[in-house]
Amino acid sequence: MDKTRSKNQSLRKLLNDKNHIERVAITYPAYHWNSHICSMKQIFTALIAVFILLGCGRPEGGTIHEVSDLFIEVLGVAQDAGYPQLGCDKECCKHLLETGSTRAYVTSLALVDKVDSSVWLFEASPDIRYQWSRIHQLSGKDPDGIFLTHAHIGHYAGLMELGKESINADGQAVYAMPRMKEFLTGSGPWSQLVSTNNISFRDLKADSTVVLNERLKVSPFRVPHRDEYSETVGYRIKSPDRTVIFIPDIDKWDRWDRSILKEIAACDVALLDGTFFESGELPGRNMSEIPHPFVSESMELFSKLPEKERNKVQFIHFNHTNRLLRDPNAIRQVEQEGFHVSRQGQQISLN
Ligand SMILES: [Zn+2]
Ligand SMILES: [Zn+2]
Ligand SMILES: [Zn+2]
Repeated sequence: MDKTRSKNQSLRKLLNDKNHIERVAITYPAYHWNSHICSMKQIFTALIAVFILLGCGRPEGGTIHEVSDLFIEVLGVAQDAGYPQLGCDKECCKHLLETGSTRAYVTSLALVDKVDSSVWLFEASPDIRYQWSRIHQLSGKDPDGIFLTHAHIGHYAGLMELGKESINADGQAVYAMPRMKEFLTGSGPWSQLVSTNNISFRDLKADSTVVLNERLKVSPFRVPHRDEYSETVGYRIKSPDRTVIFIPDIDKWDRWDRSILKEIAACDVALLDGTFFESGELPGRNMSEIPHPFVSESMELFSKLPEKERNKVQFIHFNHTNRLLRDPNAIRQVEQEGFHVSRQGQQISLN
């Protein structure tokens, strides 16, 4: 019951927040889009929440309310290994693994333009089967292109599904930076996708702009991260009216040669690395070897920003240990500071 109440409070807060509702529609997709992987109790809870708070039913036929004709949909919010994570016998994952439930897909975005029926996928995650299906629901077709950030499993491993063993894609456009392309081209099994033309590269250059159509532009920018196999980029996604930045993986903010505060000032929505909530989250592991900015650190750094700026920040890419995946108190803590927690199925209008 506590969970239901806090979810209701959280949704009510969002509905009351005019700034937020202008650009974000919270749609409870985990209970709709992914209903096949949820328990009946979860479905019932979500239905009650939606009926009570919105006073209306949900659309039928797998189509959810869309915030505009130009939007980003969050297709997943988990860190590379997903939620639950393989082999985790702790409280966070044990029950989910035993019951075969998935609670959050790996971080990925759909960029949708309904005007010319185009759609792009950001990241080829290990959960691409479901995310691809959602892209079809949204647009009725395969993505016009896939933008990759870097060569860690959560961000490119889904490319394997484009090969002969699966859909045997025909020249699927893949936007990649030079080292990322070299990595995929130079080593099997990825190189087979290239040699058999399952994928076809579109070359990216840091800080250059890819014009997708009359309304949409995408620019990759380099960020510091463990670059064993590829460089790492974030993306700036621009429409005539709005700019969204997407940085799922980055080392501590002070290791970046740019100011995240300035980047936030220059955009409308910032989807930022929220891998770990706080220090000590991985007992027995040296967290300096995985130097993500903790959500607690980011909130402190951003606390000096005015409310309008803090309202732009949405944390994403949560490790299975991160309380933001399940703990209403942690989510409330973030929201009370004026920030947001990304949710699967959330849509961000670009109009
Ligand atoms: Zn990652
Ligand atoms: Zn776990
Ligand atoms: Zn990474």
